[in-house]
Amino acid sequence: MERAAQPPIPIADCPTCAGFGIYHHEDLMAGGPSAAVVALIGDMPYPGGEGIERCARCGSLYRVTYTCGFGEHDIELQRVSPTEVGAPTDVVRSTELLSHRDHDTRDYAALTLVDHYLDQGAADAVIELLRHSDAVVRIRAVVTVLYRGSELGRFLPTFLDLMFDEDGSVRGNAGRIRDYHPKLLRDNKAAILAVLKPRIAQSPVPCPDAAALVQFLEKPPG
Ligand SMILES: [Zn+2]
Repeated sequence: MERAAQPPIPIADCPTCAGFGIYHHEDLMAGGPSAAVVALIGDMPYPGGEGIERCARCGSLYRVTYTCGFGEHDIELQRVSPTEVGAPTDVVRSTELLSHRDHDTRDYAALTLVDHYLDQGAADAVIELLRHSDAVVRIRAVVTVLYRGSELGRFLPTFLDLMFDEDGSVRGNAGRIRDYHPKLLRDNKAAILAVLKPRIAQSPVPCPDAAALVQFLEKPPG
C-alpha cells in the first residue's frame, strides 16, 4: 500500500524559506544570489524576468521578479497565496498552521486562508480571521481584505471595531481603509459616526485611528 504524501513542512522548518519573510530582496550587485534563492529558483539569470515558484519542501509560493539593467541587478521574492496563482488551498493544513509558534508561518497561513475565503465569498470565515485572537493573523487579514476584498461593506462594522484593537498595528492598518475605500466610508458617514463617536468618548485610552476617521468624515468635501 502506498503511503499518503507527507504534508509540507512549516516555513519555519524549511531550509530554503525560513529566512525569506513575506517579501525578500537581494541586490545581486552586492553578491549572491544566496544559496536559499538558488535552491528555490535554480540557476541565474531568471528566465523571462518574472515567474511563480513553489518551494518543494514547504509548499510556499512566490512571485519572483528579476531585474537586470543600468546599475540594477536585483531579485525579489513576494510570497503569494495559492488563490492568487490559481492553485488549490489546503484549508485544513493552513488552519493548523495558524497556531504555529513561528510568526512567518502563521502570517502565510493567514494570507492563504483570507485570500481563499474572499475568493469563495465566505464573508463569515473572513470576519473570523479579522477577529482572530492572534494579532499576526488579524494584521494579515486586515491588509489582505483592504488590498483584495470586494463588497467591503460586509466588513465595515468589523473594521470599525478593529480601530479600537489592543494592537497598534491592527488599529493603524484598519485605519488605512480611508485610503483604500473613501467612497464606502462617505456613503456610510452617519452610521459610522454614530458608532465611533460614543466609543471614542468612552475609551479609557486615546484612539487616534478612530479619531482620524471621524475627522476625515466631518471634513467638508473638497
Ligand atoms: Zn520552503
